[in-house]
Amino acid sequence: MLINEDKEIYYIHTQLGKCDNCQNTQFIIYRKYSGEKLCSSCFINSIEKNISATISKYKMLNREDRIVVGVSGGKDSLALLYNIYKIQKKKYKSKPIIALTIDEGINGYRNKSIECAINFCKKFNIDHKILLFKDIIGKTLDEIISIKIKESDYQYACNYCATFRRRILNEGARELGADVLIMGHNLTDLAETYLMNVLFKRHQIIANQYLFKKENNELERYYVKKVTPLMKIPEEEIYLYSNLKKFDYYPSHCPYREKDPILRKRVLEFIQKIKSLSPEIEYNLLNGFLEISEILYHKFERKSYNSCMKCGYPCGSNNLCLYCRYINDLNK
Ligand code: SF4
Ligand SMILES: [Zn+2]
Ligand SMILES: [Zn+2]
Repeated sequence: MLINEDKEIYYIHTQLGKCDNCQNTQFIIYRKYSGEKLCSSCFINSIEKNISATISKYKMLNREDRIVVGVSGGKDSLALLYNIYKIQKKKYKSKPIIALTIDEGINGYRNKSIECAINFCKKFNIDHKILLFKDIIGKTLDEIISIKIKESDYQYACNYCATFRRRILNEGARELGADVLIMGHNLTDLAETYLMNVLFKRHQIIANQYLFKKENNELERYYVKKVTPLMKIPEEEIYLYSNLKKFDYYPSHCPYREKDPILRKRVLEFIQKIKSLSPEIEYNLLNGFLEISEILYHKFERKSYNSCMKCGYPCGSNNLCLYCRYINDLNK
């Protein structure tokens, strides 16, 4: 069995039936949202075509781009890295891709997933750069949490982690000369993030995620263009694809996500529940995001940004970005 049996949307069929595409092999997956039944090789082809088509449709890459891929060693990032490696070799021969990994310092989790990333990069001879929280911030995430958890203003680990990681990833990509930073967020991640942003009325953030933004020198000076070619593939299918391809990925979840009662987790559970009744729900959220982000982008197009007085990055009204606020707080 390649997919958890409790996932109702997709499962490996034991009943007999032919693949809709090649008509001569037994199907292994039934996509409830489209009605398709596919054998393993047609399924693998459909995933790889989906990734190439998303890159072309949303003009995610240019021929001369220096491509940096964010890699954690999980199923999404290895599936992404493998496909980008193949696409780059075929179409964008001039500059080899670089894998970039952030080691937050989560004992028993990240050290293991990084091992998978290192082995994968070695196997395909891909340049691999690893940046550590410990080197850049001076503390691992575990150390940060062991200090902060005793304080009254403690926020969940993900708040500190995501803020630091986003910045370090962006700075790392800039230092590597990246024109584009490719991330392994899949359809389920995107649906979850969009729904979270809607629930908290984060309209500016939705606008900033619009895929066809015009050049904005103010922002481009700081942020490397980020793209997500897996955005049309549900999590379960990446899982199945990575298993069929026999990728040696790290399968467990971050212990902080398991432990902390973060809202994001409940939003995901909500999506999973609705998805079992209406399989198209994630695609509806994706399409909602594509339409609404365009409308909001035009609404906020001429907005100018404050600069963080410490690091210069664009920030909100209080002239100190969240990254610098957290850093100041740790150094108190
Ligand atoms: S789940 Fe939270 S703490 Fe764990 S790696 Fe992700 S953002 Fe960091
Ligand atoms: Zn087939
Ligand atoms: Zn700052």
